[in-house]
Amino acid sequence: MFVEPLPITALRGVGPKLAERLRRLGLHTAADVLLHLPLRYQDRGRLTAISQLQPGMEAQVEAVVASSSEVTTRGRRCLLCRLSDGTGILTLRFFHFSPAQRQWLGQPDTRLRCFGEVRASYGGGLEMIHPECRRLDADPPPVENRLTPIYPATAGLQQFTLRGLAEQALEQLDSAVLLPEWLPPVLLAQLQLSPIAEAVRLLHQPPVDTPVAELESGRHPARRRLAFEELLAHQLSLRRLRESTRRQAAPPLAGGGLCQRFVERLPFALTAAQQRVLAEIAADLAQPRPMLRLLQGDVGSGKTVVAAAAALRAVESGAQAALMAPTELLAEQHDRNLRTWLEPLGIEVAWLTGRLTGKARRLALERLASGAVQVAVGTHALFQEAVVFAELALAIVDEQHRFGVHQRLALREKGRVGGRCPHQLIMTATPIPRTLAMSAYADLDTSTIDELPPGRLPVTTVAAPDSRRDEVIERIRRACRDGRQAYWVCPLIEESEALQCQAATVTAEYLAERLPELRIGLAHGRLPAAAKEAAMTAFKAGELDLLVATTVIEVGVDVPNASLMIIENAERLGLAQLHQLRGRIGRGATASSCVLLYRPPLSQTAHARLAVLRECHDGFEIARRDLELRGPGEVLGTRQTGEQSLRVADLLRDQDLLNAARYAADRLLRDHPERVEPLIRRWIGAGARYGEV
Ligand code: ADP
Ligand code: MG
Repeated sequence: MFVEPLPITALRGVGPKLAERLRRLGLHTAADVLLHLPLRYQDRGRLTAISQLQPGMEAQVEAVVASSSEVTTRGRRCLLCRLSDGTGILTLRFFHFSPAQRQWLGQPDTRLRCFGEVRASYGGGLEMIHPECRRLDADPPPVENRLTPIYPATAGLQQFTLRGLAEQALEQLDSAVLLPEWLPPVLLAQLQLSPIAEAVRLLHQPPVDTPVAELESGRHPARRRLAFEELLAHQLSLRRLRESTRRQAAPPLAGGGLCQRFVERLPFALTAAQQRVLAEIAADLAQPRPMLRLLQGDVGSGKTVVAAAAALRAVESGAQAALMAPTELLAEQHDRNLRTWLEPLGIEVAWLTGRLTGKARRLALERLASGAVQVAVGTHALFQEAVVFAELALAIVDEQHRFGVHQRLALREKGRVGGRCPHQLIMTATPIPRTLAMSAYADLDTSTIDELPPGRLPVTTVAAPDSRRDEVIERIRRACRDGRQAYWVCPLIEESEALQCQAATVTAEYLAERLPELRIGLAHGRLPAAAKEAAMTAFKAGELDLLVATTVIEVGVDVPNASLMIIENAERLGLAQLHQLRGRIGRGATASSCVLLYRPPLSQTAHARLAVLRECHDGFEIARRDLELRGPGEVLGTRQTGEQSLRVADLLRDQDLLNAARYAADRLLRDHPERVEPLIRRWIGAGARYGEV
């Protein structure tokens, strides 16, 4: 049933050079041309009288040349042509013109049809600069009966080229199988979707009476038809990926006395939410198929302890567990926590990051390979070539949105030993709005810790211009005098890490001058590991009052006595990051405050971000607002990796389609499995296909 898609070079006029330019727009096949939708449309379906023109509008006029002259203004020669249609005068201005153009624009009474943007000219009156002009003869053609599409383009690609290609592809829509309909008629009827050919034709050549605003905002049913199919293709791709992993064998892990003893020895009782997710995880781990589970929970909800309990199930079954963190600092902290919890139970924990070298590294690797080490903690260095596990049964990723689908895949591959695949638990420190979780993590099951440990007080948050720095410094003085501890965070304002660390160093010196009675420490990425660790340990032990740091403390750092946080340049940070940072305080018994220092003037979005943070403490709600303010690429941290880029759909605008897309994915996988591959192929480019690994 499936035929190879027609390459773009099969279209008339597409040679290697043009093909290369089209490739830059992500267009590889003839079908891609049809899925490259116009950004906006121009209405050449009507004529506007010159007297009705307003500056700023795009309009089409029909008029005759009244006079024409070449002038030179500010060193630039240009051709001015005055048109009259009996209701007024319009000037056309050309900076470039051919001799032929000059000839016919210079002939009074030549009849023209011009389309362009109207602006007020310097000398008064209205003009169009470089309008599209067409000379009319005695028998003028009718005005267009369709809106003119304007496509996203790139250097060296003209609108008329793209328009021509789209027209050509549309002509072949019926004869060739450019865009076969893969959605079964029942589904189309049920979801009230039009056939794809119809939708595509409308979007490229809408009749003049089509509501332009609906088309351009993406709310037109034809656009939603395509957005739906794209979301469906992504669902299918992730689901297929999941199924291929789930078909593999995994070691079933049973829990017993060890897990029990661990929980009993903790200095606190697990929250009901922690117990619930732990039970969900345990049920998965007992299966002979790999667990693929996402553990969500707000900052401070206690995910680490859940991870440790899960790791114990691997240990109890005589296998190993690995916990991977996104940063060295967090890896160190997990290492400390796990040692405190697990070593008393007789379990050996190893630490592996890029920094571990020489003999210590060799030893750690040996003990991992022999199985002497039961739990490994580290950064992505854990999954490098040289690292061999005796039997890795559970891989835990403290993801913090920094690993995308591809990395998750790499991880699955890494842990595969003798045809067995490790179980996987992915923890996100920043909650992901449900809609995003449903699309970006459709290959995972989800567990959510929706409850904080008892006794947490909400953090009072204020925003202040940095002119009020002195007051803030006094506040630190008072808090520390009362035996509390504080963070001063200097986030990234310079592109380079070096400069960022320098800013933290300078700030620490300045604060030391202003607050001589306080014990001040410094933590940033450029410090030698030992110094950084020493500062963190001293701060944790209460031997420092104030810790000046870069955003390295963003994730995981846990010092309950710290109850004041100052964040400089808060206007430069995203909501999720601010929420993460703020999550470092409010962990103890005293009420905590967070001061967001900003440098005025605030942009509108920065203002909105700071307001959300002042009002809101729930990570899920913050994530939802973040999605509105920044869009899904940023929220998922995938903008950099280019992953999950959608062509037509917009996760925010089209979120109401996601449920239907999931439903349709179920139906297709069950009733029409042969349509799955072509649908994925149509929408997900060759380079980004997840399902083939
Ligand atoms: P996160 O979910 O942000 O990773 P952590 O695992 O770092 O949170 O936990 C935050 C703090 O809460 C830690 O000090 C941890 O020991 C503590 N904690 C975890 N669970 C509980 C609980 N049930 N009761 C009290 N404190 C808890
Ligand atoms: Mg954590």
